Amino acid sequence: MNFLEERIVKDGVVKEGNVLKVDSFLNHQMDIGLLDQMGAEFKRRFADKPINKILTIEASGIGIACVAAQHFNVPVVFAKKSQSINLDGDMYVAEVESFTHKCINHVIVGQKFLTPDDHVLIIDDFLANGCALQGLIQIVQSAGATVEGIGIAIEKGFQSGGRIIRNLGYQLESLAIVDGMNAETGEIRFREQPVSTNGSLPDGEVCRSSTLD
Ligand code: 5GP
Repeated sequence: MNFLEERIVKDGVVKEGNVLKVDSFLNHQMDIGLLDQMGAEFKRRFADKPINKILTIEASGIGIACVAAQHFNVPVVFAKKSQSINLDGDMYVAEVESFTHKCINHVIVGQKFLTPDDHVLIIDDFLANGCALQGLIQIVQSAGATVEGIGIAIEKGFQSGGRIIRNLGYQLESLAIVDGMNAETGEIRFREQPVSTNGSLPDGEVCRSSTLD
């Protein structure tokens, strides 16, 4: 198991409805040391990409993206889920169906923050059905920018998002892929990924997720 899988086993809680709660360390209270390890791992997996911007979506992606951004030395843009009075100028808008809240959100990014010169790494906490990611990809495409890759903390591999996004040809790197979980027993089963002794990938080995399918 890698460092994130170990933490999920230790502190994650499996809920009914295919929901994994990780709010004690990832998306409510945040363990910054863990986020830093995740950022280093994203940097390693996307080392060969000319990334100059990270894009995420509020709220849970922001912390992960900001810590990762320190490893890439690039700014973070986060898509907003509602139009606020602070949003001015022209905007890119995409519709996203929320997995956790079962509603449709508009996700919005100011046009001045994404341009055709941008090479974007998209980061989010979870990948379930892929709706959030497809909205973010649509926004990058609207800007004429390039999606260089997608970094996810936890992919629920038994839902369709990972397959859809990989079939679109993107380099999708999920640090933990949950292939099954049981709300009654609390059991969590991970997809095998190559690990080194320090819990991340072996040196020089790039994990292309498509080879893990
Ligand atoms: P998708 O759009 O891929 O269906 O769902 C991804 C979004 O839903 C993520 O941004 C995340 O906030 C939320 N999400 C999906 N599944 C889970 C889950 O099992 N636990 C938590 N905490 N959030 C989830």
